[in-house]
Amino acid sequence: MKREDTRRIYVGNVPVGHGARVTVQSMTNTDTKDIEKTVQQIKEFESVGCDISRSAINDMEDAKAIPIIKSMTNVPFVADIQFHYKLAIAAIENGCDCIRINPGNIGGVDKVRQIVDCCKAHKISMRIGVNSGSINQKFIDKYHGVNVDSLCYSCLDQVRMIEDMGFNDIKLSLKSSNVNMAIDSYEKISQLCDYPLHVGITEAGPSTKGIIKSSVGIGSILSKGIGDTIRVSLTGDPKEEIVVGRQILKSLGLLKEGIEIISCPTCARTKIDLIKIVNEAEERLDKIDKNIKVAIMGCVVNGPGEAREADIGIAGGNGVGLIFKDGEIIKKVKEDMMVEALIEEIERL
Ligand code: SF4
Repeated sequence: MKREDTRRIYVGNVPVGHGARVTVQSMTNTDTKDIEKTVQQIKEFESVGCDISRSAINDMEDAKAIPIIKSMTNVPFVADIQFHYKLAIAAIENGCDCIRINPGNIGGVDKVRQIVDCCKAHKISMRIGVNSGSINQKFIDKYHGVNVDSLCYSCLDQVRMIEDMGFNDIKLSLKSSNVNMAIDSYEKISQLCDYPLHVGITEAGPSTKGIIKSSVGIGSILSKGIGDTIRVSLTGDPKEEIVVGRQILKSLGLLKEGIEIISCPTCARTKIDLIKIVNEAEERLDKIDKNIKVAIMGCVVNGPGEAREADIGIAGGNGVGLIFKDGEIIKKVKEDMMVEALIEEIERL
């Protein structure tokens, strides 16, 4: 089922599925009950464009912190629960906007039913999260190991249990740290049901490696038209996950907010300090609220031509910069004035 055709659910006021804009999530790594730190981190998430934030609820104090955290932040709050159904119920009663559980580790159908009944009563959605490390043994045996089939059918089994309880405000995640398995699993589950999908590559790893793994995995899944909300998992500052997630969406044309920079890799034709110029421009362009493409190219031989898709740009000459618009050179400035001149032209657009 492509993202246009999935069911629509809501996480707070944010729509997920059925053609809604693909949203970006992250998860706090503060102690949730440390309200000051958790609120500060969620506000940092908001400042870089987070759509939905998730926090682990490990005890009753965490659950009781939810209404205060929510009153001080703007993005919907997802409560992440492992094992304890009473914590799930407390989180829902304390106002979380969505609950993330793995029904397989809640301790039986009756306990899951109590969580589902509470979701119904409070009109909130649920994310069913299954990862390759928590597949029901029954499916591992049936499909001969941890693989795409055992992951998908184990997830579907949990979905059917929740459906039988008369609830379907659910989204699904099928996580694997193996990129190929994740891609194939999301593709398969999208053919087996019409629930919106929360896409991520779990335990992707530290910075550069994690970014590459997540970009390849999440990007491949999204490019198939599958996936309604994403979370990049990095071992690092979770704010970075949102920056990377938004960049993945922008690369695929799924997010058109803000300025997209196209810049060349530099070569022997580059006669200006292009890397410094791009870094300086990026910092200043981040503060401008326009939906445009800006090209910053090393030379005029290929610059304007290579960046024909851009709305405006700059190409280096020998110690000079040539500003171009719609592929035509409109102005020449000295190298040290390039960024300033570019910003001036962009503000005029
Ligand atoms: Fe080299 Fe010019 Fe291409 Fe940049 S735009 S990589 S300087 S040829």
